[in-house]
Amino acid sequence: MEEQLQKIYFKCLQELKQIGIDFQDETKIGTIEIALSNRSQKRYGVCKQEDPDVTTRYVEKRGRKKVIKYAKYKKHKIEISTWVMQLNEDIIKNTIIHELIHCIPNCNNHGNDFKQYARYINDKLGYNIKTVGNKKDDYGKSNIEYQEKLTYKYKIQCKNCGQIFYRNRICKNFIQKYRCAICNGKLSIE
Ligand SMILES: [Zn+2]
Ligand SMILES: [Zn+2]
Repeated sequence: MEEQLQKIYFKCLQELKQIGIDFQDETKIGTIEIALSNRSQKRYGVCKQEDPDVTTRYVEKRGRKKVIKYAKYKKHKIEISTWVMQLNEDIIKNTIIHELIHCIPNCNNHGNDFKQYARYINDKLGYNIKTVGNKKDDYGKSNIEYQEKLTYKYKIQCKNCGQIFYRNRICKNFIQKYRCAICNGKLSIE
């Protein structure tokens, strides 16, 4: 699977180079590594930034807080989730290119710069790069049955042993009425 990823990644690089974005230009972009990751069933991929270019430092205000940011990083580590690899190749490519855009200076978020590149690439190469993917849609397009994880309304935890229970419906005085089925401890609702 790793080999398949590298192959598709290389195809992406070539296609992007043809429309004027050279991800192998280390002085502009920095170095990029790409690998598979088993860690998330939810996210498609991630681009971890390392080695910031200190000359591109800026301060961003978040309410009262000030956060130090960098427009450019010299090292990027892209991880593609293994579950993505079973989908259609164009969806895999969308995912790879999405993470590649994050390697471009000022694109380490889903702001205007990111969106501009995404739009340009979508227009030129016919991709469908979005800021967030839709797992259900992408499974459908790939003819793979998608099973949505069961979600429950209430998460109940035992204050004593820590056991977690899930319920969709609970009665009014649930906390007063019921105790932990394991240790008889008191419960709390989250
Ligand atoms: Zn992203
Ligand atoms: Zn308990």
